[in-house]
Amino acid sequence: MAIDRYMGLCLGHPQYGYYVTRDPLGEKGDFLTAPEISQVFGELIGVWAAAVWRTMGEPDPVCLVELGPGRGTLMADMLRTFKRAAPGLAAAARVHLVETSPVLRERQRQLLGPAPQWHARLEDVPDGPMILIANEFFDAIPIRQIERRDGRWHERVLGLAMGQLAIGLGAPVAATGGEDGDIREPAPARSGIARAIGARLARHGGAALLIDYGHFESQPGDTLQAMRGHRFVPVTEAPGECDLTSHVDFETLGKALADGGAAGCQTLSQRQFLIAMGVEARVAQLAAGVDAPTRDVLARQQARLAEPSQMGNLFKVLAATSPGLERPYPFP
Ligand code: SAH
Repeated sequence: MAIDRYMGLCLGHPQYGYYVTRDPLGEKGDFLTAPEISQVFGELIGVWAAAVWRTMGEPDPVCLVELGPGRGTLMADMLRTFKRAAPGLAAAARVHLVETSPVLRERQRQLLGPAPQWHARLEDVPDGPMILIANEFFDAIPIRQIERRDGRWHERVLGLAMGQLAIGLGAPVAATGGEDGDIREPAPARSGIARAIGARLARHGGAALLIDYGHFESQPGDTLQAMRGHRFVPVTEAPGECDLTSHVDFETLGKALADGGAAGCQTLSQRQFLIAMGVEARVAQLAAGVDAPTRDVLARQQARLAEPSQMGNLFKVLAATSPGLERPYPFP
């Protein structure tokens, strides 16, 4: 089977899929995400969303949409920030969570209460002005892989080789350019969702903030990866038991948003975004009232999110707006 089918089954099979059968987040799980590392991450995104809402003319109601909300932590941190810093938005926001995992929907309900509406797909979210957030969502949407050998491009496929799962080359596909050995990762499912976001922004107004690990510009390379218990494992290991993701190509994502009708697509590193949004001041404020060991924890969390050698450079933050909306700070 092609890689996108494998990835889709591993993550989303209705009985055995990785996200269907567990909550993968946390120290005891397989991976940690930025909102699980520090409350400051969601708070700063909340500040960003409040500023965007003001440039939108403070629509009431406004759809606050999150794709793949995990445990609901980012949303909870944003909503708490609205209550303190933008009470008008706290009252106007209608929370819509796009989530396929029944286990994670339950976690979200525990944290956020019954007020949000849950949907399986973005298409099911009602029309209206929207602020959309997605953190580590697109990396989990299946990709294809194609590889060039002897001057021709082939689909990469998963199959059995002497009783073991292995990746090999399948049927030739139409593609041009590149060099032998190159691997490309076409992601029509990701582009489809990005186009749908762009179309909603164009129709009803608003902005989207998409955060993930990946690269600013399209480049060849095999970035499919599996994680289990905070370690990388082979992508063929224990299907459905490991987190299977790939890096996000922000150039292609931005083009798909623009194709859908969005304007102003700009991408920063997570480091650039967090520093411009005031991560240092917010951490200093939290550190003022606590003991030395807790201050150390706060400093380590900040470093993990923003330092170039940790998440700061690998992660990117893309903003897109509806045509005519002022480009939201801190995007250039
Ligand atoms: N945003 C959260 C969780 C990231 S993990 C955080 O930062 O902590 C990926 C999330 O996307 C999970 O909530 C998972 O269940 C959800 N997800 C994966 N594939 C999905 C799909 N096709 N549709 C909707 N949600 C999906």
